[in-house]
Amino acid sequence: MMAINWKEEVKKREDEILRDLDTLLRVPSVREDELATEDAPVGPGPKEALKTMLAIGERDGFQTKNIDHIVGYLEYGAGDELMGILGHVDVVPVGTGWESDPFIPVIKNERIYARGASDDKGPTMAAYYAIKMIKEMNLPISKRVRMIIGTDEESQWQCMDRYLATEEIPDFGFAPDAVFPIINGEKGNVSLRVQVKGEQKQDAANFLHSFDAGLRENMVPQDAHALLSVQDVATMEVAFERFLNEEPVTGTFVFHPENETVELTIVGKAAHGSTPEVGVNAGTYLAAFLNQCQLTGQAKQFVQMITEKVHLDFAGEKMGVAHTDEVMGSTSVNAGIITFTEKDHGTLGVNLRYPRGIAVETIEIRAEQELSPYGATIARGKEKEPHYVPADDPLVQTLLDVYHRQTGNEVFEQTIGGGTYGRLLKRGVAYGALFPDSIDTMHQANEFISLDDLFLTTAIYAEAIYELIK
Ligand code: ZN
Ligand code: ZN
Repeated sequence: MMAINWKEEVKKREDEILRDLDTLLRVPSVREDELATEDAPVGPGPKEALKTMLAIGERDGFQTKNIDHIVGYLEYGAGDELMGILGHVDVVPVGTGWESDPFIPVIKNERIYARGASDDKGPTMAAYYAIKMIKEMNLPISKRVRMIIGTDEESQWQCMDRYLATEEIPDFGFAPDAVFPIINGEKGNVSLRVQVKGEQKQDAANFLHSFDAGLRENMVPQDAHALLSVQDVATMEVAFERFLNEEPVTGTFVFHPENETVELTIVGKAAHGSTPEVGVNAGTYLAAFLNQCQLTGQAKQFVQMITEKVHLDFAGEKMGVAHTDEVMGSTSVNAGIITFTEKDHGTLGVNLRYPRGIAVETIEIRAEQELSPYGATIARGKEKEPHYVPADDPLVQTLLDVYHRQTGNEVFEQTIGGGTYGRLLKRGVAYGALFPDSIDTMHQANEFISLDDLFLTTAIYAEAIYELIK
């Protein structure tokens, strides 16, 4: 049989791909809990986007199924074995800073601009056309391929929970929702809630009323605030100015004479919780400053614990939870939420990403050993275990071979701290659709996918899926 020219096959269908993608991108599929109903579990937008995608599949003669309007699939082929393609058609909220309507796609400079263009409607449409081409070309195959379409990837994965509860689980597959060449490892993920209780001396020179930093455990706090009663305001102000000069943060010092309190603000830099070293954690910096301020009781213990065991220790050495796997890399620790109130005392929410080789129970025990001397107690959240598909698995081999053949780019295995649908399958990975030289605009204003990336991705997916189901 003559070698198939996948890029040529895509070329014949460029207009069609753009037309269908345009239709899908026009659906404002942001999760809206306030509009959720029993038959629109995460709101009308995601439901409509799923319906749109399934209607395209029906039009083209695929077998489709809509499961409770939260997840659905379309399928092609015959055979016992099932390959899964796990995409999603929900999108994150629009935010500000757009130069065009995020739900009216615009093609400019060989790019399609719209919310969801690169995360994940564009790549999902590329995978759809990959399967459609295999079908239209009537190629001989021995397995089935099922494209599973989620509508709650950006929030709680309710869609995939629903799918896994009753539907057939694919034997292997990929999520078109990350980067090339591949992501075959995802770190484990667990959050710890650390509490420090007790009393401050009522007559202390400096008395902490409140401390507040961070929105979510998996984000690096951008700013932090504290309110104190202070005996020697001038001295503290000098110390604070010096701290701001020495450290990579900005901040403000405000004295309220009416009730003799001082309000401190520190501004750092937000980042994703899986890469805490990329951000500047305003919360741990503020704790480090307060650690010099002669607090008492549990306020003292709380800021001292954060300073000595958490601040700037992104690998968790001082918390005793550091671990490195040769292939999957090292543990990361993010102090995402730091709060203190006079009533509830100190709470620290840390999110950990960890490679294989360390159990979550070990993480908890070691953290307890290190933090209990400060009067801390620890509660552990639900964990996601580390996920890894070996580099010599035929799935990984095939995906890398095809990518290399079509792009000439170098290939390597890769582990991330974030999570993709790939982890839902024992033999599941993420595969594209960002190339090494693509500009990543996911979750940002003016999100786009370039036409070149979209069409090349379609060709790569088509060859990869065909190789895996033939
Ligand atoms: Zn996504
Ligand atoms: Zn996303």
